[in-house]
Amino acid sequence: MPELPEVETVRLGLQQTTLHQTFTGGQVLLRRIVAYPPIMNDFLDHLKGYTITHWHRRGKYLLAQLEKSTLSGSLSTPSNVISHLGIHLRMTGQLLWVNQIQPLPIHTRVRLFLNAGQELRYVDQRTFGRIWWVPPDKSPESVISGLGNLGLEPLSTQFTVEYLIHQIHHRRRPIKSTLLDQTIIAGMGNIYADEALFVSGINPVTPCSKLTIQQIQRLHHSIIQVLRDSIGLGGTTFRNFVNIKGINGNYGGQAWVYNRERQPCLICTTDIVRLKLSGRSSHFCPVCQPVNEAQ
Ligand SMILES: [Zn+2]
Repeated sequence: MPELPEVETVRLGLQQTTLHQTFTGGQVLLRRIVAYPPIMNDFLDHLKGYTITHWHRRGKYLLAQLEKSTLSGSLSTPSNVISHLGIHLRMTGQLLWVNQIQPLPIHTRVRLFLNAGQELRYVDQRTFGRIWWVPPDKSPESVISGLGNLGLEPLSTQFTVEYLIHQIHHRRRPIKSTLLDQTIIAGMGNIYADEALFVSGINPVTPCSKLTIQQIQRLHHSIIQVLRDSIGLGGTTFRNFVNIKGINGNYGGQAWVYNRERQPCLICTTDIVRLKLSGRSSHFCPVCQPVNEAQ
C-alpha cells in the first residue's frame, strides 16, 4: 500500500503538473471507485468547470482544492465557489498524468479530462481505492470516510516526543500494531513502521507499555528520519508504486528490513526474520532489535 512518502511523492507531482487546469469531463469505468456523490453522472457533472488550485495530503489521502467562478443570484455577480476532490490509493491505486490519446492500461478505472488534451488517469488493479467529490457546502471530513479520525502528521511540528509518549505509553498491544493505527500517526504503514523500528533497535512485538522513554525518543526520531529519507528518494517500488509519470521510487533498494526476509542484516549480517503480527508481515533483525528485558 502506498504510504505517506509515496502519497507525498504523488502530491508533489500533481502540484507541479495539474495546477490551474480545469476539468472538462471524464469517464468512470468502474462505478464503485467513486464513493461520492452516489450517482455516477453527478460526479462528472459537478466536477466539470472546476479548476485545481492546490493539492494537499492528509495521512494517505490526497485532497485537491477546486475553485469555480459562478454567477450567483439575479445580480449576476461572479463569485468563487470552492469544493474538493479526495483520492485514496489504498493497495494498488495509481494516478497518472498522461495525454488522453495514450492507450488505456487494462486496470484503468476513472479518467478525468483537463485542459489541452491532458488527463488524470486512475489505474487500480485491486480496486480498493476510492475517489470523492466534496460539494462546496460540505467539509471534506464529513464526506470522506476516515479523514476525520486521523492522528497527527508525523512530519508536522505538533508531532513531538511528548505526543508519542502520551499516545502509546499506556497501551499493551505491540508497538508495531500501534504504529499502523492511523488515529495515532497519520500515513504510517507496514514498510515505514518496520524500517523505523529497525533504525531505533526496537523489536516489533514489544508491548508499548514496556518501552522506555529513551526507546520512544529514538523511535520518534526514526519515524521522521525514514519518512523524510523515502520522500527524498521518491518513495518505494513495492506494491507497484509509481509516481504520476509512471516512474518507480528508489527507497526499496535502501530498505533495512522491509521485504528482506532471510537476507543478511545490513548491520550485523544475521538473517532478517518475517513474523505475522495482527495479520500483517513484520520484518526485523533478532540481534539488532532484541526483545526488551523483563518483557
Ligand atoms: Zn542486525
